[in-house]
Amino acid sequence: MDHDYHDYIVVGAGAAGCVVAARLSERRDCRVLLVEAGADIVPEPASIRSPYPVSHAVSAYRWPGLAARIKAPRPGQPAPPPAPYLQPRIMGGGGSLMGMFAFRGLPADYDEWEGAGAAGWGWDGVLPAFRRIERDLDFGGPLHGQAGPVPVRRHRREQWSPFSQAVGRAFEEDGYSFVADANGDFADGHLAVPASNLPDRRVSSAAMLDEAARARPNLTILADSEVQRLLVSERRIVGVALMRRGEPAELRARRVVLCAGAIGTPQLLLRSGIGPASDLAGAGITPVHNLEGVGRNLANHPAIYLSALVPRGARQRRGALFHNGLRYSSRLPGCPAHDMFMPVINRTAWHALGDRVTALGACVYKPFSRGRIGLSRVGGRLVADIDLALFADGRDLDRMIEGTRRIFRYLTRASELVTGLVVFAPTNARLTARLAEPKAINAIVARVAGAALDGPAFLRRRALRNAGIDPAPLFDDEAGLADFVYRYAAPMYHPAGSCRLGADGDPAAVVDPRCRVIGLDGLSIADASIMPALVRGNTNLPTMMIGEKAAAMLREDDAQSGARS
Ligand SMILES: Cc1cc2nc3c(=O)[nH]c(=O)nc-3n(C[C@H](O)[C@H](O)[C@H](O)COP(=O)(O)OP(=O)(O)OC[C@H]3O[C@@H](n4cnc5c(N)ncnc54)[C@H](O)[C@@H]3O)c2cc1C
Repeated sequence: MDHDYHDYIVVGAGAAGCVVAARLSERRDCRVLLVEAGADIVPEPASIRSPYPVSHAVSAYRWPGLAARIKAPRPGQPAPPPAPYLQPRIMGGGGSLMGMFAFRGLPADYDEWEGAGAAGWGWDGVLPAFRRIERDLDFGGPLHGQAGPVPVRRHRREQWSPFSQAVGRAFEEDGYSFVADANGDFADGHLAVPASNLPDRRVSSAAMLDEAARARPNLTILADSEVQRLLVSERRIVGVALMRRGEPAELRARRVVLCAGAIGTPQLLLRSGIGPASDLAGAGITPVHNLEGVGRNLANHPAIYLSALVPRGARQRRGALFHNGLRYSSRLPGCPAHDMFMPVINRTAWHALGDRVTALGACVYKPFSRGRIGLSRVGGRLVADIDLALFADGRDLDRMIEGTRRIFRYLTRASELVTGLVVFAPTNARLTARLAEPKAINAIVARVAGAALDGPAFLRRRALRNAGIDPAPLFDDEAGLADFVYRYAAPMYHPAGSCRLGADGDPAAVVDPRCRVIGLDGLSIADASIMPALVRGNTNLPTMMIGEKAAAMLREDDAQSGARS
């Protein structure tokens, strides 16, 4: 047996890649190599393991130096400069950094995918894959999995903090009914928000690569190894060229499965000469295969938050990130139902300031704006050129503005229910991000600042001035509110769609409904990049579902073609 030859090379050990590698290697005669650019730390460090998300603030777990143009310019105004954009580089990918919101999206989202040419990806086609990866601790029946690797659970209402309870009451007074099972009842309403964790730990897709899976002789995990390009022979992909701790290597396989994420996968294709001919020519890359959809159709959820300082008696020290939220329909012209989500953030950080400050957000879950990813040459080097283009479609900004009005309304009502709640608009994201890094010095700074917030009124006012502004005047100033929302809205970490699924023959599709790259042999994609459109939910579980479904199809295709596995 050739020990350097694999049946599959899976590139990227993220939400989808861990699932793909785990499932493919269940067949002992199938040799799988999982390549990850980031570290593989076993056992998971405390910051990743924590059920309260902390690891997103650890710079060692991110792609260094990644920047993106975040927002499309407003009419008549210059484009804002690129800003840092967080993407995971660690075993588990986004699953190791995420907030652990465990939504699936709505059945209509998947029916829309199928309508866009992704045959077999309608709700009935994806539900079995969701069920196989989930272990729902609260609900059973035909809509929920009971035996999968990822626990899904909700907090009981009596466990919620006074802030979560008060905002929930404001939602219900506004006419929204309580929805206990947001992954099975898809109406608008006040949701008990599902989480993918256990009381003492996060559970990401990396859990599928447990000790037993790692002991499989047919599975190799190569961490700290960045794939630089695909090896191509005629129209077949035959392997990858990678750099491991400064050393180049070439590894070969019968099939390569790209799971490098919606930002990483299109870059790898472009570096390998696969993509829109004009983009390749512009970056001086020798073309291998003209595929117009690569890097296009990039979608993301935009979000905005207002915060509230919670008085001493109403805090939940060391509480969960979230308990509840609101799914609602903006009803703006041309916008689909259930297009918005409001997360109630119970505790904004792991430290003493986070215990004192809560937040309420508005997210556009069905955005119309689309961006793109390309490569440009800087000093002879190819670098990512990412344009998220949030608000390129004015309907997305309009919904954010309306959502901000709602946030203020609900927080105002909550402050009647929780005496002493002080609402403010956070404007110092850089300071918040710096303090979020889990370091002893940040714990001390947060404790001192927290004491100031609990101190005399003049100290509290000064501390709050450093953190944000009083939002009330914005709501009497249409233009001022629009400026505020445009400036302070931010992308969630849900990039998707940059190598989308579609029918063979659709010029915008990159993969066919069996996840095979159109026009090439030996290459598949299974990650968030293949979503034809974003789902109305956070993207971790949907991406794990993609990995699960893709792996099943690869195994079926192998069985049919008589390949070894
Ligand atoms: C901070 C943060 C918070 C989030 N919160 C939530 C949440 O609460 N709920 C939710 O549902 N979703 C959440 N998400 C989104 C979710 O994590 C992503 O949608 C999901 O991880 C996407 O999965 P993926 O497999 O497509 O890519 P990823 O999980 O990003 O995995 C891609 C992997 O490929 C590796 N890679 C990339 N390029 C290469 C290369 N050239 N060579 C080798 N390896 C490479 C990367 O290092 C990475 O580990 C969050 C994401 C982030 C970053």
